[in-house]
Amino acid sequence: MKTIVVISGKGGTGKTSLTASFAMLAKNIVLADCDVDAADLHLLLSPNVIEEQIFRSGEIATIDKELCTDCGACCDACVFSAIDDSNTIDPIACEGCATCALVCSSNAIVMHPAECGRWFISETRLGPMVHAKLDPGKENSGRLVSLVRTKAQELAEQQKRQLVLIDGPPGIGCSVIASIAGTDLAVIITEPTMSGLHDLERATKLTRHFQINTAAIINKSDINDDMSGEIEDLCNKLGVKVIGRIPYSTDFVKAQLIGKSIIEYNDDAVSRQIRDIWKEIEGHI
Ligand code: SF4
Ligand code: SF4
Repeated sequence: MKTIVVISGKGGTGKTSLTASFAMLAKNIVLADCDVDAADLHLLLSPNVIEEQIFRSGEIATIDKELCTDCGACCDACVFSAIDDSNTIDPIACEGCATCALVCSSNAIVMHPAECGRWFISETRLGPMVHAKLDPGKENSGRLVSLVRTKAQELAEQQKRQLVLIDGPPGIGCSVIASIAGTDLAVIITEPTMSGLHDLERATKLTRHFQINTAAIINKSDINDDMSGEIEDLCNKLGVKVIGRIPYSTDFVKAQLIGKSIIEYNDDAVSRQIRDIWKEIEGHI
């Protein structure tokens, strides 16, 4: 079984649209949407959820009002200002450090596992998909990404699927590291802008650090041919093969609006180019 991750140094490069197109072209896959802070692959795939679980990570404090003597020690001790004057804990502000529980002489404060989001296994028209949603303001997205990847891997083994295709998060943070670690190929989607160039360089440094075989695609390449050339030069210098230049096409948005990948939307030159890119990707793994 192989694992391919599609990432981008920044958001808005067309990463998810291309991932959905690759999912359409691939056979016998499990999809993993690891963009847990802003998952959107489900918007294109209309998943039918067959399993839903709570994701818990870290701890959160609660106060037993029956035992509380209103001494105020916990409020004074909380450096995150998560406890107000009426001894009520704000679950968003609480960082789970347990200082309040230590200073409470009445044993009125209990630490609980914190609910941080949900993860799902769904059926889609392109195969099974594992995806997740981190609650607003919650951290530990790296742990949730690892959980999504583990579940996708298990599913692929159970169903004898040949490929796990990951829609990774943008950027270079811990959730990206959790998405790329141990994969067979990282495909970086970029666009011909100055930030696209710098973000590609940062993403490539990350994949090289983890010794991940890396390829690049320049999306909307014709909006700035000079910059596309600079990106190709940079890729050559970094030893990253550019496996495709895709011209700007409004069909990406039109396809998204009706919940389809561009491959399903039409069969024009852009779609054929994406098919050729997918063949290149298959060649890499
Ligand atoms: S430290 Fe304990 S007893 Fe004092 S206000 Fe906080 S919860 Fe209540
Ligand atoms: S666990 Fe830490 S952050 Fe949360 S309320 Fe207690 S002292 Fe504040």
